[in-house]
Amino acid sequence: MRHFRQVLAFLLLALLFLGACGSGNTPAAEETAAPFAAGAAVRTQGARMSDEPQAAGTSTEAQSVKPQGMVYYTYFDTVSYVYSYAGDPAEQFEDRSAEVSTILLEYHQLFDIYHEYSGITNLCTVNKNAGGEPLKVDRKLIDFLLCAREMYELTDGEMNVMLGAVLRLWHDCREAATENPRNASIPEETALRAAGAHTGIELLEIDEENGTVRIADPEASIDVGALGKGYATERAAEYLESVGAEGYVLNIGGNIRCIGDRPDGSGWRTAIRDPNEDAEDYACRIRIRDTACVTSGVYERYFTVKGQRYHHIIDRDTLFPADYYASLTVVTRDSALADALSTALFCMPVEQGMILANSIGGVEVLWIFPDGTQQSTPGFADLIEEKI
Ligand code: ADP
Ligand code: MG
Repeated sequence: MRHFRQVLAFLLLALLFLGACGSGNTPAAEETAAPFAAGAAVRTQGARMSDEPQAAGTSTEAQSVKPQGMVYYTYFDTVSYVYSYAGDPAEQFEDRSAEVSTILLEYHQLFDIYHEYSGITNLCTVNKNAGGEPLKVDRKLIDFLLCAREMYELTDGEMNVMLGAVLRLWHDCREAATENPRNASIPEETALRAAGAHTGIELLEIDEENGTVRIADPEASIDVGALGKGYATERAAEYLESVGAEGYVLNIGGNIRCIGDRPDGSGWRTAIRDPNEDAEDYACRIRIRDTACVTSGVYERYFTVKGQRYHHIIDRDTLFPADYYASLTVVTRDSALADALSTALFCMPVEQGMILANSIGGVEVLWIFPDGTQQSTPGFADLIEEKI
């Protein structure tokens, strides 16, 4: 049975690489992966990054790079991959990969809003305690929430982790629709508006000195879906950098973070999925190194009511799914910033997003509109290596 699972997992892995690696995993892939979510780690030798199968145009040297890979199914309800192209001794790779896994597990538990874990005060506990006394939490959670507040300010509130009350209504409808598609419905407007009155960022009280957190309003709650994965990915990348790792790629549920470059200096080729087509079709391919790449798309999580699709990125002004784009990709070094921006830019017109991206610096963005047309920051063109 175990062997069968490993073979299946490897096939899934190969499929992912041939498909939309780097553009967010396809929902189908995530569903296929779910049955293995028993804390399994699968080791893959000679695993392939997305560009390996397309040998044409890659140098012999590049083709001779044989990565080692590790797959984890346990974190953030998604699939996580750790690859090394550096030819590390197996033991060193395993140690580093295990440490990445430990870091992801810790953040997964701290950020979980649906489950509590013994001995840990996590965001589920913080949400349950909304309106109550300040709660003592791990310094890691304080730092994360400070980052969330910073991202709120940077994005003028478009990425707001205090949108929990609104997001829960959409989440519940999506879950109900998955269970029973015939009776699918969207949240009542009055309920959305009522929930929208409990989403102020000032309701999140962080006391750095005493190490406590409190939500000031019993109706308010935190949802970190827009930032948590990217933040945890960055902490894992930070660890790898601290031990001098190079030539590593993390793919944490579609949040790609490259540590250093491929040993041959050619960068990693990543396909950005065509959001209007099947998962195998891509809009363009880019080459990345020493950076993060995050895509948010309407195809990632959605449900359908009367032929209309409702996806998972909610515009705080309308309290409905944002409808400017079909997908949006952010390339910038810090994976937490990339994740926050991928959600925030999704909720603003391209002109405004362009100004924001340019004002931060070192941020490249590709906007793909519902009609398939594209726009990008000037520097994004330098990353593109192949367009269709
Ligand atoms: P993923 O990569 O998981 O598809 P995104 O980075 O695109 O996610 O963020 C979407 C998730 O963020 C949603 O599932 C929801 O939990 C949360 N979210 C949706 N809209 C917003 C928003 N405007 N601000 C903050 N969080 C949001
Ligand atoms: Mg995001």
